[in-house]
Amino acid sequence: MAEMKRRWGMAIDLDKCTGCGTCQIACSQSNNMPIFQDDSDIAKRVTFLDVMQVTNDNDENAEYPDVKVAYLPKMCQQCEGNDPENPSPPCVSVCPVVATDVGDDGVVSQIWSRCIGCRYCQASCPYEARVFNWWKPEYEGTFKESMNPDRSVASRGTVVKCTFCDHIWKKERDKAIANGVTDINAVTYTPACVSACPTGAMVFGDLNDPDSEVTRLSKSDRALRLLHPIDKLRETDPELYKKRIAMKNYPNPKVYYLTSQKWLKEMIGGYKHSS
Ligand code: SF4
Ligand code: SF4
Repeated sequence: MAEMKRRWGMAIDLDKCTGCGTCQIACSQSNNMPIFQDDSDIAKRVTFLDVMQVTNDNDENAEYPDVKVAYLPKMCQQCEGNDPENPSPPCVSVCPVVATDVGDDGVVSQIWSRCIGCRYCQASCPYEARVFNWWKPEYEGTFKESMNPDRSVASRGTVVKCTFCDHIWKKERDKAIANGVTDINAVTYTPACVSACPTGAMVFGDLNDPDSEVTRLSKSDRALRLLHPIDKLRETDPELYKKRIAMKNYPNPKVYYLTSQKWLKEMIGGYKHSS
């Protein structure tokens, strides 16, 4: 079998996202997330993907009709740390039982059956992308019939998170191998959220492939990463950028957001106050 050369990543166009929530539903269905006892309690809600509302309402200069709203689908950003050759996401080194690790495709895994629920990883994640499973999952009525046989069920007391639907990846990979494909890099797949998005706002692919759509989008002038102000410094002051990178670790996520709206860029890129 050929060596894995993939680095899965995502680009999400916020100017196309309408906040409909279809990605969130597809994600919950594909990952067997049940409806929990009290889903209105946001702190205890279990979801891998949250569609967040972002507004400039707190901006003192924003008055009607200049108040703006955008929607931001947020999931695990699959961080790789300063060195993509030796990925070190903030959440991985803190796990005392190696229930989370980085795969050779750059995806940060989460092994539910190994997790002891200490929540160190949740505390370390700068993006609040990990969620603690407070409730025993219960699947009522016809819900059971729609469960995904390719995904196990996360039990109460464990931490869960998005893994770019690695169950779909593994299924496609195994199917290809069974059909005689020997180059693993020839196999592709699409996570459930990306397949479901009705506006085509989400693009998934290989960031190591210079010709992929996701690579093209990640290099666009409209692209930025969530609360990652160091990216701005790379453009404005490359020397200072190098110094900062040498002094401190950054999450360096593989999820890119695209927008042409200045207020949104400043708000979610963290540029305004940090650089
Ligand atoms: Fe880990 Fe959070 Fe980064 Fe995902 S977003 S890799 S959970 S630190
Ligand atoms: Fe590891 Fe689970 Fe603890 Fe997170 S909560 S650090 S995955 S054992």
